Amino acid sequence: MRVRALSRRQAWAWTAVVAVLGVLASIGAGLALQRQQRHSLDAVMDRRASLVAQAVTNQAARYADTLRTVAGAIGAIDTLTATAFTHAAAPLTEMRLAGATSLAYLIAADDHEVAAAQGRWRSRGVPDLVLSPDEDLQHHIFAVFAMPLDGSVKPVPGADLAGRAQSAAALDEARRTGQVAISDPYVLTRDRTLPAHQRQKSFVLTTALYGAADSAGNKPFRGWLLMGLRSETFLGDSLALVARSGIDVTLQTRGTDGRPAVVATLRSPTPGLRDLHREVEVPVAQRRWTIAIASPASSLPVSRALPPMAMIAGLVLTAALALLVRTLATGRARAEARVEAATADLQATQVVLRQQKADLTAFAGVVAHDLKAPLATVRAHAEFLDEELAGRSAVDAADLRPDLSKITAGVARMGTLIDDLLTFAAAREGGIQPVDLDLHALADEVAIGHLDAASAARRPMPTIYVGDLPPVSADPALIRQLLNNLIGNAVKYTAPGRTPRVDVTAHPTEDGTKVVVQVADRGMGIPAGEHEAIFHGFHRAHQESGIPGTGLGLAICHRIVERHGGTITAEDNRGGGTIFTFALPSATGIPATPEPVLRDVTQPHVPSR
Ligand code: ADP
Repeated sequence: MRVRALSRRQAWAWTAVVAVLGVLASIGAGLALQRQQRHSLDAVMDRRASLVAQAVTNQAARYADTLRTVAGAIGAIDTLTATAFTHAAAPLTEMRLAGATSLAYLIAADDHEVAAAQGRWRSRGVPDLVLSPDEDLQHHIFAVFAMPLDGSVKPVPGADLAGRAQSAAALDEARRTGQVAISDPYVLTRDRTLPAHQRQKSFVLTTALYGAADSAGNKPFRGWLLMGLRSETFLGDSLALVARSGIDVTLQTRGTDGRPAVVATLRSPTPGLRDLHREVEVPVAQRRWTIAIASPASSLPVSRALPPMAMIAGLVLTAALALLVRTLATGRARAEARVEAATADLQATQVVLRQQKADLTAFAGVVAHDLKAPLATVRAHAEFLDEELAGRSAVDAADLRPDLSKITAGVARMGTLIDDLLTFAAAREGGIQPVDLDLHALADEVAIGHLDAASAARRPMPTIYVGDLPPVSADPALIRQLLNNLIGNAVKYTAPGRTPRVDVTAHPTEDGTKVVVQVADRGMGIPAGEHEAIFHGFHRAHQESGIPGTGLGLAICHRIVERHGGTITAEDNRGGGTIFTFALPSATGIPATPEPVLRDVTQPHVPSR
């Protein structure tokens, strides 16, 4: 089936369809990828927020639990002394809780109880204790034992915490609820002198202490255990891992006054705009803290460049595809156009070639005529002069005759050369006209021609034997020329004084498609190493013999055999002379005779016609 080539318009239409579909697909793919990435980013942020929340919750719970455990231990001591306090709190010191600054044991005392309390606690191991009640208050809360948890100097007990709003509120809550309470963030008194960038918020964790239950099951209130903490150190420790991955964390709480207050801020050193945010609430003691995290999208393991890159790649691919479609769609048309152009070129070349051939043939004809015409004139005049000289004195005639005969011989040589050249040229050109040919009859005719020529020239009569030659399919004129040259050479290249002898024989090949013909003589033979060269134009092997010739005869034979689809070779004839062998196609209508019947070759040959 012949597929019609697409028109230019159709090719463009297909290209446009592919391009539009490709662009839409690329944009769609880019957008889908972007949406998917947004989801990935959200998922990563959610994961991180939950990680931070988990870390803060765990850390706060651990601190509260530890405080509750130590408080339980201290509460169980009947008569608490400074030494017993230090001993019971030892596990807290050893745990080195990050951010924990101090631990204190607090007692409550009203105005009228202060002096007695001071005396009592001095006797329990703090001899230099000075309780300093806030004069504006009636109910006081004093730290009677205090110890550092961060290796810093020992805090001085005796201060009245009832006047410090944040601590007081937490202490109140702890006593009221019986749970661990946390204070609003505040700046420690000793931190207030630090430069702003070093100053950080602190908060306290506190729990109420009760003695052993009495007979009614009531536990007497004894005081509080209070742990001071630096917020950022506390937060930094719990978030050491997540903070390294480019996340800023802000811890906020809603103060007892209802206003939001920043507890701590942890900034990641990772540069970049914080364009992703999350907020989560976590329970810390009895409060809820809000954790806000912010992160630059560039720090997350999701490439933002991917969607635009995918889109660009898609567009580039589309362009390439559209180009391919266009090339394929128009390719056939272009190929057809090229074939047409090449055919036109070929036709033009054929016209030129035909013209050139016609010119050449005409030229050859003109040359033959123009060269031969003056030769004929020269010959005629030479012969006329020869006759004229016959009547002159013998001396004069004898002087002029050699020159005259040289002119005649030269003219004859030139005539032969022109004939041979024309035949040589013609042997290459034009088509052959093969017919079923009676080779035997043809060889006979050629042989008779040579016998006649010898007799006319009064040369020794050659012996020419023509065997039973099978019919062939060949061009009669060319085969006549071929046999004429070969038989002529066989006669010509026989030493003077010897009778030339030629045998023309033939036999069909085994498959019957060809007839192998041989022309054998008993002449001079061909010098060693020249059996191939003699078939080249103008090659002569017996120059010194003085035998006339142009060196074109065998070249003509070679061309004639070649044009009949065969080859011609020369070999030495055993016992002297040469055998030329060539093959011609067998006749198509007449079956070839298998073997030639040899005749008596001792008698001069009498041609059959
Ligand atoms: P030429 O015009 O010289 O005869 P040919 O092409 O017919 O040219 O032959 C080429 C050469 O081959 C001759 O010059 C001759 O030397 C050699 N030759 C051809 N036929 C024979 C032969 N039958 N016996 C010996 N030599 C031959």
